[in-house]
Amino acid sequence: MFFLRGTRTARIKKYLIHDRQCVHCNDFNLTVKIYKEYFHVWFIPIVASGVKSTKIECNSCGMSMRSDSLAKEYESKTRAPFYLYSGLIFAGLLILGAVGLSLGGSYQRSVYIANPQVGDVYLIKTDKPFKDSYHFSRVMRVNGDSIIAWDNKLNYLSLGGTPSKLDSGDHFSSDNELVYTKGLLRVMYDKDSIVTVFRGEGDGTGFNRVN
Ligand SMILES: [Zn+2]
Repeated sequence: MFFLRGTRTARIKKYLIHDRQCVHCNDFNLTVKIYKEYFHVWFIPIVASGVKSTKIECNSCGMSMRSDSLAKEYESKTRAPFYLYSGLIFAGLLILGAVGLSLGGSYQRSVYIANPQVGDVYLIKTDKPFKDSYHFSRVMRVNGDSIIAWDNKLNYLSLGGTPSKLDSGDHFSSDNELVYTKGLLRVMYDKDSIVTVFRGEGDGTGFNRVN
């Protein structure tokens, strides 16, 4: 992908000052403009870079002048505005958002594990019948601490992402009934044997096919 990128210069501050004299007309009527270079991608400022530069102009005679002391004084009290870091700030927000979503999702799953409901489907990873095979287990009844679940018929591979629905020919079966306790579910979840929990998924997942 082609990235249009490079550096540009932005004027970040303009001062009108009346305590210094123009070297040409001796009037006390100067404008000091402070510039800062920034790195951009497609003209979106990513990060301010390099040093500041300064232009000094006289508002009375229109001439520009040089004064290193004046430039230094105003450059040192001018900070690069935050919008020159827009790209970095935006990237930071994206990362924070992603972390927040991921934390929220994992919190939600542990709540589901601690409070099983009929219809919950666990994605279970085992080494049988082959390494890293997956199957599903659907909660059919909850009796106090006993969670009665039915496994589905087929085994699944992880192909570009863990499986998240049943094949059209697959279903949960009473032949594969087993009983968990909440404690066991917790341990299986902590050990990543239960990879994730599905709750309230639509019919497209096949999670409601039971017999
Ligand atoms: Zn002047």
